Amino acid sequence: MAIATVNPVTGEIEKTFKPLTSEEIEAKLARAQSSFELYRQTTLEQRSEWLNKVAEILERDRLRYGKIMTTEMGKPLKSAIAEANKCALVCRYYAENAAEFLADKSASTDASRSFVRYQPLGLILAVMPWNFPFWQVFRFAAPALMAGNVGLLKHASNVPQCALAIEDIFPEAGFPQGAFQTLLVGADRVAEIIADDRVKAATLTGSEAAGASLAAAAGKQIKKTVLELGGSDPFIVLESADLTAAVETGMAARMLNNGQSCIAAKRFILADSIADEFEKQLKAKFAALQVGDPMDENTDVGPLATPGILQDLDEQVQKTVDKGARVVVGGKPFSDRTGNFYPPTIIADIPPGTPADREEFFGPVALLFRVQNLEEAIALANSTSLGLGASAWTNDETEQEILIDKLEAGAVFINGLVKSDPRLPFGGIKRSGYGRELSSEGIREFVNIKTVWVK
Ligand code: NAP
Repeated sequence: MAIATVNPVTGEIEKTFKPLTSEEIEAKLARAQSSFELYRQTTLEQRSEWLNKVAEILERDRLRYGKIMTTEMGKPLKSAIAEANKCALVCRYYAENAAEFLADKSASTDASRSFVRYQPLGLILAVMPWNFPFWQVFRFAAPALMAGNVGLLKHASNVPQCALAIEDIFPEAGFPQGAFQTLLVGADRVAEIIADDRVKAATLTGSEAAGASLAAAAGKQIKKTVLELGGSDPFIVLESADLTAAVETGMAARMLNNGQSCIAAKRFILADSIADEFEKQLKAKFAALQVGDPMDENTDVGPLATPGILQDLDEQVQKTVDKGARVVVGGKPFSDRTGNFYPPTIIADIPPGTPADREEFFGPVALLFRVQNLEEAIALANSTSLGLGASAWTNDETEQEILIDKLEAGAVFINGLVKSDPRLPFGGIKRSGYGRELSSEGIREFVNIKTVWVK
């Protein structure tokens, strides 16, 4: 895959970039290593100061960063600006809380003094996706840098300008040169970078195939990985739910980021008694969405990021419809538009075994399923190989407890939209990956949890 900015609205190649040569990669690794030797000795106060400055830069230049994101991957500009602000939030969160998360933790044992100390590992490689091209990077970078590690970013090949803009922020904020660097390389160079002795661990957010490949390469070198992979999150609505709120939130949860979010509500699992009304209201909401130029502030849904994603989504929909599913609204790409636009779509009466029944849909397509009771809802929700998030709507407290207990997911949100929040751990189970980002759990993924015992 070429490293290039290809505008998803026009299909035009706006800028191409040469991948780094082997010598250039070596120079960046060497710089990262020498940076680490000094950086690890900096104090948490100093790192906090720099990270707070990163937050200021993100807020100050949010419009510029927003435009880069929108140009490269098509999310509505207002969401892109909000994303830059959210990155500032995670920086401030770790600037404020890292000292507490990383403080020595004592344990009473047979020693006169025993405790756990958290120490940095060194160079950490982050392989990141294009869908939240700033947020995914900052939620890795903020805790990694606060813990004293240095970061190497291999960003998705379609967001090189985001990757370079992010790289520039850290030295401007005061971080030492080499504390955070972007490597403009294709996926084919990742295994050899992980194999380098100086690289101590890696994290990847993206598809299952990419995660499996990275984990295999890291496994060969006995290096730790964190994987944040796909999701096919259920959005369960039961009879006692506030239907208006569920429809409103369901629409937002499916349409976020033009439908290209790992934690988007993808499978709507509806109690039979409310299913008709839910479908009617959701259809009205989908039909009212403005699809168009993501730079326009009135646009709700922009184009998909690449022609490949558009083609994959179209094939998944067509295969499902060919097997007998019913199209409620949308269902076919626009015939009169250039770019990667796909209309907000709802599909119902989904036959078992079809792509809609089994696969993740990465675009603005809601899949509706009907169930007779809570047990059926949970069984259907758990029937995929993925387990990232789950949203469930009910005002019955007994049902809430059962859902919290039985849903196979890294996160369960009751009567709310699944979202990432710096204060809460984020990650999945099953084929959605392993490890956690954010909160105190996230900052302890890439540290040496050193046991100290003193007689
Ligand atoms: P992708 O193709 O897996 O790309 C993600 C990153 O992995 C890119 O930097 C890509 O580089 C790299 N990559 C691809 N193949 C690789 C390989 N064999 N070895 C090493 N690196 C490799 O992901 P995508 O399809 O663009 O993104 C969508 C997927 O990400 C969806 O499944 C979505 O649910 C998931 N996602 C998960 C989360 C989460 O937090 N759990 C968040 C966002 C997205 P190139 O661009 O150079 O190929």
